[in-house]
Amino acid sequence: MTRLSAITPSGHAHLGNHLGALRHWARSDGPDDLYFVSDLHAMTVSYNPPRLRSLTRELLAVLVASGIDPSRLCVQSDLVRELGALSWVLECTCSYGEAARMTQFKAKGGTAARLGLLTYPVLMAADILLQGASKVPVGDDQLQHVELARSLARRFNASYGEVFVVPEAVTPPTAARVRDLTSPDRKMSKSTRDAAGVVFVLDDPDLIRRKISRAVTDSLDEVAYRPETQPGVANLLEIYAACTGTSPRDLTFPTYAALKSAVADAVIEELRPIRSGVTTLLSDPAELDRIRKAGADRARTRATHRLDSALRLAGVA
Ligand code: ATP
Ligand code: MG
Repeated sequence: MTRLSAITPSGHAHLGNHLGALRHWARSDGPDDLYFVSDLHAMTVSYNPPRLRSLTRELLAVLVASGIDPSRLCVQSDLVRELGALSWVLECTCSYGEAARMTQFKAKGGTAARLGLLTYPVLMAADILLQGASKVPVGDDQLQHVELARSLARRFNASYGEVFVVPEAVTPPTAARVRDLTSPDRKMSKSTRDAAGVVFVLDDPDLIRRKISRAVTDSLDEVAYRPETQPGVANLLEIYAACTGTSPRDLTFPTYAALKSAVADAVIEELRPIRSGVTTLLSDPAELDRIRKAGADRARTRATHRLDSALRLAGVA
């Protein structure tokens, strides 16, 4: 079984990424699992190239410091030639309607949007299918894209010959979707312009405490787990539960202030080792370069045979 997942360097890693994704990746124990920084996906909207390069490096360091085995890591663009080739084959397997139906495209798209915003779920399918991944751990915002990868794998296999493993999405049970602290109606996101409601993995402890103390709650003044009517409080309870290995329904706190203070303590402790690990790694560029190169070599070796077969079955190369 091969698990595969990615994080896009569209901004700094945040608590949602950590609780919903990275720390589950760190617990994965399959020797063939692969986790990568999806820098090609960051190009679908306006971006700054030097910032992209530096965020890619920072995220690779965050993944290593999160405890993910370095031999299971890589950077997506290190395989840009292989992915470009498979993406084209899959674009010619996908209909325009299927791509245009993606919720993320409908939310961010429009006639001025980059064509890559429409086609990036196909690139994501190429990421998954090139590596023969069978399980794709994602938050629920990405489920639809994994569905597309499944459809394309099935369709290609049925039309031209069996070459792709049909992948399956898996979602973590708690904190599947951490919400923004100041706007609990939306999820915490890297690319949110206003960072007040986003706890970044590399924020210092004082800043984390300040952000959590300003989290939006409600005027009911009762700490209870009611996601529909008290989304801000429910979010804080979920975060606390995820950091302490408890269940949000079982928690009791006398006041909102007591809840926020406990959440801040738990989050600071949860993120402390990562922040310190990243500082060490970024001060040793040669080690990070070595990890990156070894990961690229391994991912490329694994991909070559499947790519060659797919191109041959597709009637080219
Ligand atoms: P962007 O705003 O650019 O889409 P993002 O914060 O959504 O950034 P991604 O790179 O899209 O981050 O996702 C990386 C991983 O983190 C994915 O597995 C995704 O499902 C998960 N994830 C992202 N946001 C959250 C969140 N708020 N709660 C839980 N998991 C999340
Ligand atoms: Mg996202």
